[in-house]
Amino acid sequence: MEELMKYLKVVDLTPSGIGVPFISGYLINLGSLLVSIEQGPKSSYEKLYKVIKELGFGDGRVDFIVTHIHLDHAGSVATLLNLIEDSVAYVHPKGVKHLINPDRLWRASLDSLGYIAELYGRPDNAPSERIISTDDDMDLNYSGNLFKIIHTIGHASHHQSIYWVDYKAMFVGDSAGIYVKELNYIIPGTLYPTRLDLYINSLKKMISYRPRYLMYPHYGIVEDGTSVLEGHLKQVIEYYKIARELDVKELNIFINELSKSYDEVAILIQKTRDIPLLKMLIEMSLMGLLREAERLESL
Ligand SMILES: [Zn+2]
Repeated sequence: MEELMKYLKVVDLTPSGIGVPFISGYLINLGSLLVSIEQGPKSSYEKLYKVIKELGFGDGRVDFIVTHIHLDHAGSVATLLNLIEDSVAYVHPKGVKHLINPDRLWRASLDSLGYIAELYGRPDNAPSERIISTDDDMDLNYSGNLFKIIHTIGHASHHQSIYWVDYKAMFVGDSAGIYVKELNYIIPGTLYPTRLDLYINSLKKMISYRPRYLMYPHYGIVEDGTSVLEGHLKQVIEYYKIARELDVKELNIFINELSKSYDEVAILIQKTRDIPLLKMLIEMSLMGLLREAERLESL
């Protein structure tokens, strides 16, 4: 971990009003350029820009690698591209158009997230000539520092993870759930609407790299990466089976059943009762699983 931290700066990008530390941004200083993974919402762009300038890259070369275009992950990218001339953004092909013109994304986010979308802010329009569409398994080689782009759809159709090969560090975006440190619990990243079969494939894909670290945007760095991913894979399959056996449409019944089977779910539900964002995420995550259990006869 010490070796990793020589190059890495973790920046909190949680906007005010959220109530808990929720968004981590990662900056990797490779000397001749800066790599940025997880740029946070538009409303936090100044926090990230400040650190970029402190590191001496305000007018230097910055490569933004976007995990996915949801507001809390890439909302600030367009603004930063416009501020930093020598910068580009690497994005999953399905996300490109939403960075260039975020109108549709913004309207959909307002519908699904309500006032939380307002806290994140409406993204600016990105300059299309500096957006680079990625391929699955694409290598970004920065004079010996190898970053692999791994398309990991499921949470979203435009999701990719980034693997920093030398340090065995996997930047997982939302494709490995939302890590709640205090409870050592992962909320599945299966927020409705989702594709559970694809989410599971993506988990398996990431496990095949045997990562040592998971770099969560929500929230922070987790060690023993491979076993955490394996545990999460097991967790979502178990939840799916419970939902399938229950065969109900009501979310409350599913949550009650999970709370009976797993103490950590009961604790989570209780502890997040007064944290609207987490409460909403848990409900959307379990709703996604419940709907997928209805749709998928087997995994
Ligand atoms: Zn997301």
